[in-house]
Amino acid sequence: MKSSDSTPPSSVSSLPLDWTNLLFIGLNSLAALTLAPAHAIFVGVPWQTWVFALIFAGVTNLSITAGYHRHYSHRSYDISPLLHYFYLFFGSTAFQGSLLQWCSDHRKHHLQEDSEKDPYAITKGFWFAHVGWLFFKSNDRKIERVADLEKKSLVRLQNKYYGWIAFLSGFVFPALVASLWGDALGGLLVAGCLRIFLTQQTTFFVNSLSHYMGHRPYSLAVSARDNILVSFLTHGEGYHNFHHAFQFDFRNGIRWYHWDPTKWFIQTMAHMGLSWNLKTAPAFEILKAKMHTLEADLLNKGQCSEHLASLRERIFEAQKRLKTLNESWKERSEGHYKKLMLDMRLASIEYQALVKQYFRSVRATRTLGSQRF
Ligand SMILES: [Zn+2]
Ligand SMILES: [Zn+2]
Repeated sequence: MKSSDSTPPSSVSSLPLDWTNLLFIGLNSLAALTLAPAHAIFVGVPWQTWVFALIFAGVTNLSITAGYHRHYSHRSYDISPLLHYFYLFFGSTAFQGSLLQWCSDHRKHHLQEDSEKDPYAITKGFWFAHVGWLFFKSNDRKIERVADLEKKSLVRLQNKYYGWIAFLSGFVFPALVASLWGDALGGLLVAGCLRIFLTQQTTFFVNSLSHYMGHRPYSLAVSARDNILVSFLTHGEGYHNFHHAFQFDFRNGIRWYHWDPTKWFIQTMAHMGLSWNLKTAPAFEILKAKMHTLEADLLNKGQCSEHLASLRERIFEAQKRLKTLNESWKERSEGHYKKLMLDMRLASIEYQALVKQYFRSVRATRTLGSQRF
């Protein structure tokens, strides 16, 4: 990665400081790291507060990942009014800005990734992408490209009174809940300050660590990387290379074993009738991106393979054949039923075999390359 120093680049250091963000993040972090543990050690925090804080932190993160990010920023699925209220309320408790501000920043991040206009460009340094970008007032953060979201009255209201809504939902609400078992101060410090600090920092890792360290299986053109650690910290947002390559997909981790609780939450909501129209990238497009990246990577290492290119072409042909057969299947007549089924079966077997052969050849080319050097 190009830059990882802790001092902001000259294009940034000339900008005026955002004192509101600087003071809030600074003071809240201080409270989370000193007052919350001191209270736990010297006064004691009942188990109810810990359980509540843990659930509240999970829900806060989900409102950002499934709500602010995958639904509002990328429109990767549709939601019911109930989920809209849920995301707006718990999203506010995260102190990550209003929905309009968050989505405006994020859409710009995808559109202008790694450029001067990317609000949290990793090219401006690891710490700038992590949190530093919030400490400066910049025109790049003007609310734009969110006309679709501005149509909703509650979203406009949340944006207008964001400071008050965040304060009431993020601090007063947990203190009130914990006062039910007589621990209002613990609620404020643990389910308030500490929860906000941890959910902010883990979300920030998506912009820093996931653009800095990890694998790029789907696109070498972007700095975004798949980072398992970030996925564990952020309910699955760490499969960031896939996300930048297919941002309209409601999943970030596409395999069943990928740690992506946000995806599982959205699917559960769909089973309950609270979300629908879950968008996914076609499997063949994902495979194409993967093959393109693998071959580009081998080429970069001087391990060019004509055999791989020819296998890739055969996979494309087999996929075309499968597509044609699938279309014929929709218009099948009684007499052709059995033959069509057999042809489809054979085409599918051939396609799968070619894909397997392709990945075997990739491994062989790599082994050969490593033995040569
Ligand atoms: Zn990103
Ligand atoms: Zn995104």
